[in-house]
Amino acid sequence: MSGGAPAWYETGVPHVWLPYTQMRTSAPPFAVARTDGAHIHLADGRILIDAVSSWWTACHGYNHPHLRAALEAQAQRLPHVMLGGLIAEPTARLAQRLAGLLPGTLGHVFFSESGSVSVEIAMKMAIQYWLNQGERGRTSFVCFRNGYHGDTSGAMSVCDPLEGMHGMFAGYLREQIVADLPRDAATLRAFDALLASRRREAAAVIMEPLVQCAGGMKVHSPEILSGIAASCRRHGVLLLLDEIATGFGRTGSLFACQQAEVVPDIITLSKALTGGTLALAVTVASDAVFDAFLSDDAAHALMHGPTFTGNPLACAVANASLDLFEREPRLEQARRIGEVLGEALAACRALPGVVDVRVKGAIAAIQLAGPLDLSALRRDFVARGVWLRPLGDVVYAMPPFVIEDRDLVTLADAMVEVVRAWSRR
Ligand code: PMP
Repeated sequence: MSGGAPAWYETGVPHVWLPYTQMRTSAPPFAVARTDGAHIHLADGRILIDAVSSWWTACHGYNHPHLRAALEAQAQRLPHVMLGGLIAEPTARLAQRLAGLLPGTLGHVFFSESGSVSVEIAMKMAIQYWLNQGERGRTSFVCFRNGYHGDTSGAMSVCDPLEGMHGMFAGYLREQIVADLPRDAATLRAFDALLASRRREAAAVIMEPLVQCAGGMKVHSPEILSGIAASCRRHGVLLLLDEIATGFGRTGSLFACQQAEVVPDIITLSKALTGGTLALAVTVASDAVFDAFLSDDAAHALMHGPTFTGNPLACAVANASLDLFEREPRLEQARRIGEVLGEALAACRALPGVVDVRVKGAIAAIQLAGPLDLSALRRDFVARGVWLRPLGDVVYAMPPFVIEDRDLVTLADAMVEVVRAWSRR
């Protein structure tokens, strides 16, 4: 930014090491003054429609008065106490409500503050589940190409080893059992055979149900998910579903696994959990997993405890976010987003260089035959009043559920126009 940049921008931004950014060559960030609904107001006065809900978190739009009221009330009463030996009401209530919403016996909620950490905890739970029952050596995970589970080391090890952002750390990361995601009956059988042969070393299969999001919004059917779940049951391997991105309505149901009637042994949730307001994540275990930690032997306990685990402020906002899922028509809004974007983006299918157009729930993606100039694409979208940050070779939208029809049409038109211009390049 130049000219009209605010003073804090000039003095402060040079000291901020930005995420996923080559600090020498990347375009500088835009200064944001405020947000509301589906809109980001830049410091220079421009208003952008947010196509990506701030990395898929702001499901109710920004500054929802109900979330703000919950935050303010809790901040006055009790912002934080340690969960080691103390507990506040929002934490207990959120655990109870999540247990009520999640399928099966998923009802034992472990709190952390980021998606990656909730995945680390899930992996530790899975490994120790077997150890506590005297089964040694089950310390590997079966994971899938194009999968993404976070940026901490355990989570990195179960991401796509090549496509992901972590390839250079190969020597540092634990090698896992990487499989192609099955596509049909034949590849499901091949996966089943793989699991049969590796069952003695596999603690769990970990996957993003229905949509591999960061790996390029790659969609699979509920039948594939239920086939994988059946293999896990058949061979006695835990199923760990990462619903950090897909959870809370994004795929059209509250949780993606519900579309396949699959109940995992462990599930991770974050992102939209607080409606995009505060950092919070949970790792939720079934009765069977939880029971394996109950023992007279203290060493059978789960030895994990982030400083801010169960943070009451974040839990209060998450409770308010769940209120909104009860009171406001989020799943209907998700369906509408998919319908409008699906119809509009279909026009891109025939364009040269367009590999695929995919829509699932409130996720719409156009896969291009790369390579793409991400800075140029970003500029083209901003010029049309849209904030959209492509993922590799995929231009996608995951807007707030509350986006108004007018903005949705602007967003869809911008996607079609930018992709059309790109395909003529
Ligand atoms: N799992 C999935 C499916 C994700 O999409 C992400 C974040 N994009 C993560 C885990 C990691 O979450 P966080 O960035 O909060 O650590």
